[in-house]
Amino acid sequence: MKIQKLSKIYDGKSKILYKTNDPKILVLEFKQDISKFNGKYIKKFEKKDIINNKFSYFIMNKLAKKNIQTHVISLFSENQTLVKNLKMFPIECVIRNYASGSIVKRFNLEERSFLNPPILEIYLKNDSLGDPIINETHCITFKLINSKHLENIKKTTIYINYILQKLFFRSELILIDFKLEFGLFNGILTLGDEFSLDNSRVWEKKTFKKMDKDIFRDNLNYDIVECYQKVAEKIGCFI
Ligand code: 5GP
Repeated sequence: MKIQKLSKIYDGKSKILYKTNDPKILVLEFKQDISKFNGKYIKKFEKKDIINNKFSYFIMNKLAKKNIQTHVISLFSENQTLVKNLKMFPIECVIRNYASGSIVKRFNLEERSFLNPPILEIYLKNDSLGDPIINETHCITFKLINSKHLENIKKTTIYINYILQKLFFRSELILIDFKLEFGLFNGILTLGDEFSLDNSRVWEKKTFKKMDKDIFRDNLNYDIVECYQKVAEKIGCFI
């Protein structure tokens, strides 16, 4: 059956989801928009949508080759991917190899402190509450996810971090931290959402130059799309 894109079902800060003629398949469209202050400040960057689509597709395929279930099916257009329609868990899983961002403020750490073993955090996915950090008992008591799936998410995130740290390090880059979201497809735990420089921190190994969304968050005075493109090239995304 040829997949046809139908109506919009979700319009987020950086992505749109569309139904298709197959209820098990969605079209995930990347936007040029980038936002901060919980969506209060939005700016468009030409080509960011195309780079993020290719980048996320490339990373998800690398993970699939290591037997990690992902929602990615195939590229649909230059800024769209066909994905499995997951039942998402309302939590975000963040893993940190070095201190940057919110953890620096929370624990008064020196930015760039090495976190060994990596720190894994769970956040409630709720914009109006500002995505508060939660622990396993919140997950169970609030019935966000059961303990079996949560254990599986934690193990999978640690394994993904192991794979991606090596991939970035080989490309002269350091993977500082990233955020993942998971769901179920036919009852199987599956990685959803995206992996891009919008939801990860990646620095140049030699210079510690920030190559990710922090360029926008922190108003750094260099070109964000050039950096996204450079990271994508370095890891072999365009070959
Ligand atoms: P932090 O807690 O330091 O702000 O974020 C930790 C990591 O998770 C960063 O790589 C950041 O990009 C990602 N992250 C956490 N929450 C979100 C979110 O709501 N949206 C996006 N795009 N990334 C997030």
